[in-house]
Amino acid sequence: MNSHNTSDVVIVGGGIYGSSLAYELTKAGKSVTLLEAGEIACGASGGPGERGVRANGRDVRELPIVALAQERWLQYQQSIEGGVGYRRKGGMWIVSKGFGVREHEIMGAIEARAMIQTAMGSPTEFLSRSDALAREPELSSSIFGAVYSPNDGVGDHSFATRQFAKEAQKLGAKIRTGAKVVEIVHKNGDATGVKLEDGEVVPVTGQLALMANAGMLGFLKPLLGQEERMPIYNLMPQMMYVTNPDGRKLNHLLGHMQRPLAIKQLPDGTIMLSGGVSVAYDQDGGTSGTLSAMSINLSDAIQTMPFLERSAFIKTDATRTDTVSIDGIPIIGKPGALNNTIYGYAWTGHGYAISLGFTKYLTDWLLSGEKPAELEPFSPRRFIDPARQAIAAVTEQRSLAA
Ligand SMILES: Cc1cc2nc3c(=O)[nH]c(=O)nc-3n(C[C@H](O)[C@H](O)[C@H](O)COP(=O)(O)OP(=O)(O)OC[C@H]3O[C@@H](n4cnc5c(N)ncnc54)[C@H](O)[C@@H]3O)c2cc1C
Repeated sequence: MNSHNTSDVVIVGGGIYGSSLAYELTKAGKSVTLLEAGEIACGASGGPGERGVRANGRDVRELPIVALAQERWLQYQQSIEGGVGYRRKGGMWIVSKGFGVREHEIMGAIEARAMIQTAMGSPTEFLSRSDALAREPELSSSIFGAVYSPNDGVGDHSFATRQFAKEAQKLGAKIRTGAKVVEIVHKNGDATGVKLEDGEVVPVTGQLALMANAGMLGFLKPLLGQEERMPIYNLMPQMMYVTNPDGRKLNHLLGHMQRPLAIKQLPDGTIMLSGGVSVAYDQDGGTSGTLSAMSINLSDAIQTMPFLERSAFIKTDATRTDTVSIDGIPIIGKPGALNNTIYGYAWTGHGYAISLGFTKYLTDWLLSGEKPAELEPFSPRRFIDPARQAIAAVTEQRSLAA
């Protein structure tokens, strides 16, 4: 423990990552200061509706983290007073058989997907059309079947983020809102403070964890060498909300193998449609969605779940920004210039589901000083090293042949 003016760990960002990390660290006995520019859950981890917590369809490199996260969502739902808004409903990834597609071709992909998800800790099986319809009767009867993952579910992201911040605070974390970081102050290879917009410098005497998502590049970029700059950009996924006209019930988190579609039923019955069909690129704070994204998303949803044809449109929301990596998985690392600083972002529209898995390893890293091997696939070096090594190998071969 540090003296009362300083903390063992300073965290920047009060989304699901910063808040759950603050909770884990205070639970482990560390003193923590969390600095949030706005309010807790004012970024990607806030806003209306629910987030999908699924293994179905995830990048293979993420599957072990997803399985761990799913276990921890359930555990914290049960152990934290008031829960963390997690509902394990099971997930179905609907499969359609388009014209000209042969059954064995789809079955190969489905069986391979179910096999790898199961092997990585998220049990998954194929449901035939009749089994899928028995579980989810509102589905179109024209579907081919579904990939079913019983451990998939949904979470109230705003609630969970606030719950973790509240629990961390109960354990002694200092949570400062309205504290926008503009610069990392450093000396001799260590961050020594973070400068806020009003000029105050919050001291860093231990470690610094940067979890500020779309707000991060402003203060992180000056610390990164040319080779550490990463191929990421900001996106604002578009969410739609429609009524549930006949009081129908959806039993699962629903996705689609061939369509960019996610369908969730919120606790009040409202239906939420998303899935990343389209998004607004944002560099300057623009927040508008697009009509084309809405129409594609609606028609995909109606083809999958025909009763939605009778729904009324409620609203669309594209106001929350997430960071996206060109290869679709997060970037977690430390700036080469700073020994006591780690960062994580580029969650690519699915950082909520996997957060509690990553938070465990980030906590281990901060507690032990050793980067856990489980985080290695997410290193920023993956963009550079393999290409460099390949070029070096070819150059060597050529020089040997010459
Ligand atoms: C509309 C939408 C739908 C999504 N759907 C899903 C889904 O179904 N399933 C899923 O798993 N994931 C989903 N995601 C992704 C997921 O919500 C995000 O990946 C996750 O919430 C990111 O958490 P975070 O804590 O890194 O970021 P954020 O929640 O953005 O938190 C970062 C915080 O840092 C603060 N900050 C920024 N700059 C500064 C600064 N300079 N100083 C201090 N604080 C700063 C911000 O104010 C913000 O509160 C979705 C994202 C969006 C936007």
